[in-house]
Amino acid sequence: MEGRSGGMGEGRGREAGGGAEQELELVSESAVAGEAVMSVQVVSAAAAAKVPEVELKDLSPSEAEPQLGLSTAAVSAMGPPAGGGDPEAPAPAAERPPAPGPGSGPAAALSPAAGKVPQASAMKRSDPHHQHQRHRDGGEALVSPDGTVTEAPRTVKKQIQFADQKQEFNKRPTKIGRRSLSRSISQSSTDSYSSAASYTDSSDDETSPRDKQQKNSKGSSDFCVKNIKQAEFGRREIEIAEQEMPALMALRKRAQGEKPLAGAKIVGCTHITAQTAVLMETLGALGAQCRWAACNIYSTLNEVAAALAESGFPVFAWKGESEDDFWWCIDRCVNVEGWQPNMILDDGGDLTHWIYKKYPNMFKKIKGIVEESVTGVHRLYQLSKAGKLCVPAMNVNDSVTKQKFDNLYCCRESILDGLKRTTDMMFGGKQVVVCGYGEVGKGCCAALKAMGSIVYVTEIDPICALQACMDGFRLVKLNEVIRQVDIVITCTGNKNVVTREHLDRMKNSCIVCNMGHSNTEIDVASLRTPELTWERVRSQVDHVIWPDGKRIVLLAEGRLLNLSCSTVPTFVLSITATTQALALIELYNAPEGRYKQDVYLLPKKMDEYVASLHLPTFDAHLTELTDEQAKYLGLNKNGPFKPNYYRY
Ligand code: NAD
Repeated sequence: MEGRSGGMGEGRGREAGGGAEQELELVSESAVAGEAVMSVQVVSAAAAAKVPEVELKDLSPSEAEPQLGLSTAAVSAMGPPAGGGDPEAPAPAAERPPAPGPGSGPAAALSPAAGKVPQASAMKRSDPHHQHQRHRDGGEALVSPDGTVTEAPRTVKKQIQFADQKQEFNKRPTKIGRRSLSRSISQSSTDSYSSAASYTDSSDDETSPRDKQQKNSKGSSDFCVKNIKQAEFGRREIEIAEQEMPALMALRKRAQGEKPLAGAKIVGCTHITAQTAVLMETLGALGAQCRWAACNIYSTLNEVAAALAESGFPVFAWKGESEDDFWWCIDRCVNVEGWQPNMILDDGGDLTHWIYKKYPNMFKKIKGIVEESVTGVHRLYQLSKAGKLCVPAMNVNDSVTKQKFDNLYCCRESILDGLKRTTDMMFGGKQVVVCGYGEVGKGCCAALKAMGSIVYVTEIDPICALQACMDGFRLVKLNEVIRQVDIVITCTGNKNVVTREHLDRMKNSCIVCNMGHSNTEIDVASLRTPELTWERVRSQVDHVIWPDGKRIVLLAEGRLLNLSCSTVPTFVLSITATTQALALIELYNAPEGRYKQDVYLLPKKMDEYVASLHLPTFDAHLTELTDEQAKYLGLNKNGPFKPNYYRY
């Protein structure tokens, strides 16, 4: 596990996330003679999920647009759940409110029938082929000093570079090693997404952005990016992302009449990508002022950062920041004369941690924190537990729309992309073992099966194991198939799932990669021994060669394959970004007392709303409950449609 700056420990947000259910542990009381008597023991009552109920009102109906109802007044309390006025109380009655009387609860806000999603702005790419090329092969572009971008002879450049590096490779610290020596990269950042690596490689210009004097076309120098001249190119990236972010574009369109974030001063620390830019510009359109830094020293798309700076956003980020740069950038967002944030949007908890450490008084004016990542959420729960959380925080990591779409659908699409880009392999007929049949594993298995691969699954949990069987996969132990498989994929979130022993037994050319949260799933460290030779054959692709000549193909040194080697579908990021925007609106506008100094999940109704905003993309027609049906099910016709414990 990579180190973290917060020093608040590591953990799995999902557990920390505090589901409403109690954790049960099966304790073997007498495992004598193979006869284990099991008893169920309540180990800990996980922090009850705090999901307040809110109402999304349709304030200004318009047939042409989806009804957002996101004015300050709109995000109003739905009324206390049964049993009291405390919005924290997860009362069953709140999950299944009584059927409304006639005319109550405007349906428009949650009804896709309410309107169409506006078309994103037309693409203005002057060189579509150029863009396409980049997405197809991950190639790079060269940026001349005047900002002109030309496509680089990618393959040749990389090959030469790697051949030179070959000899040195075993001696050099690994990327992981370098990371842990330097800044603790927000692992954050592995459970949220950056897009593809920047193709305006920072090696073009070695001058630190901190040493440059740059101004945007309006004369502002309140930013620090690699090269402001790349702005136009970044703008095209943002426009492309807009095409696949319909909900944010819809929010933006409605913002012409409503400014639910008027007066909000949001300081953000996330990956700086085209998708984040769409989010930031949406927040701006909703009335917020933003200052932004990167949550990961590698993931910033320099041209996008430049485009944001050009359009007036104080952005402090570039690809390849040092540890010192990283904190400097965060500080420049926070420590500003005449500007104090009142909202935080964080991804990994580093920004929150910095404010706690350096400017604790700022929290007097901060209305809330929205946190995106497993790591950051875990830190918040720890602060809350220690009684040190002094403002309300929203855990968007555990919202249904994020979990389901990020983990299952995103991985279903990106596993093939990551494998293809790194190895050019054909999947049909290949034998693959997928370790872990949770959301990520299910996505990977589905994609590979669809491509004609023969898929085996390993699991420790009988329920997921049974699901794998019912889905038509062979459930095996890794040992049973390790000699025969062509690809090994880990998706467990666990450690040492693939050990050196497994690696020793793999057949020649076996591909090994990880889709789980951290680089602990494959025991990569065990491969750094003198008898094995490492040969870097491509970016993110290493051949590890045994003395007898057998080689395995290790992808991304065991880090998340899709984050390291492919792009993540923008549509998935759209869902997450919409969740973030709604969480900010909700916290910013919530009446006094709705949220206390604690960590909350996004209200279920908002989760449903995020989904509904994405439905028009598919011309999907949602069925509406009749009054009779709503009464029969004990539901409000406008949702929420499921109790908080529903698993989807
Ligand atoms: P999950 O908890 O739903 O699934 C993990 C599964 O692995 C569980 O069913 C568990 O029983 C099983 N497992 C644990 N140890 C095992 C072992 N030793 N052998 C076999 N199976 C084992 O979690 P998930 O949502 O599927 O996420 C899995 C990991 O992927 C997490 O680390 C998560 O943070 C990460 N993740 C990655 C991406 C991505 O884009 N790559 C996206 C979301 C989440």
